[in-house]
Amino acid sequence: MLTCQRCGIRPATIMHKPSGLRLCSQCFLDYIVERVEKEVKRWNMLKPSETVLLAVSGGKDSFVLLDVMAQIHDPSKQIALSIVEGISGYNREEDIEKMKKYAKERGIDFIRTSFKEFIGASLDELVKRSWEKGVNISPCTYCGTLRRRIMNYYARILGVDKLATAHNLDDEVQTLFLNILRADRMRLIQSHPKAPVLSEKIVRKIKPLRKIYEWETALYSYLKGFRFQETECQYIYLRPTLRAKIREHLYRIEDAEPGTLLRILETMDSLLEKVVDLHSNLPKLPTCKKCGEPTSYNRQLCKVCELLEKIGFY
Ligand SMILES: [Zn+2]
Ligand SMILES: [Zn+2]
Repeated sequence: MLTCQRCGIRPATIMHKPSGLRLCSQCFLDYIVERVEKEVKRWNMLKPSETVLLAVSGGKDSFVLLDVMAQIHDPSKQIALSIVEGISGYNREEDIEKMKKYAKERGIDFIRTSFKEFIGASLDELVKRSWEKGVNISPCTYCGTLRRRIMNYYARILGVDKLATAHNLDDEVQTLFLNILRADRMRLIQSHPKAPVLSEKIVRKIKPLRKIYEWETALYSYLKGFRFQETECQYIYLRPTLRAKIREHLYRIEDAEPGTLLRILETMDSLLEKVVDLHSNLPKLPTCKKCGEPTSYNRQLCKVCELLEKIGFY
């Protein structure tokens, strides 16, 4: 049997196609931690003295975020936040308890909240209301918008320096293409790790796993004995389809040319870095007339208030 090309001792069990390396399980795990740490340092995402809020769901990416961050940053400077959307059959108490246990075992405080607690309605209730009113908005829109609001709100009131999400390489490259296809230059610039923060009310977001493939987070979780949530969200069939199409194409190319996703993100990182530097003096974002949270340029209401108003929730 061939030996691992990193340690030269243990038998290689993993073929890491993007790098061409043959690895043993332990070296694969170390390789992931190293790459996350390198990316965090490269963009100065988190200084050793800084505090961070980790946004976690019950999935594998969240597990990897928690596990790797506990190894590369002082756990006492981290808090994990779990947001229960309120989707029947999907949000399971045991998954939340499991994540809480993982956080505690790693010395990271854990807090939970829910859509119900935050705005007074679960996602199921919002979607029902939306259908009753004949409003054609995808459940994912309510979900994503509210999750972002709640994460930022908690990061702000907890007074942490950074807010970390578990987006992986696949997510990041899909988002790049989505923004290009929609010609959304602002979002394209804002997706860069060095993008300016446009309001005092926004806590800087960091994505430590942005160079880690989704298959790698799955394998990492598996090797560490984490059994992730297998139930799918009941609204998955209502998910916007453009992202799914982009994902399909990207996987086909990655399959034929391993490492493609990494090269795309790296190329865009360096191209966008220059653009970001040119946009360092953007004006601050206006605030929502209703709730006082930041909103996009030329808007009166924020996305959350707009959505809730549309379904007569306010
Ligand atoms: Zn090895
Ligand atoms: Zn608002």
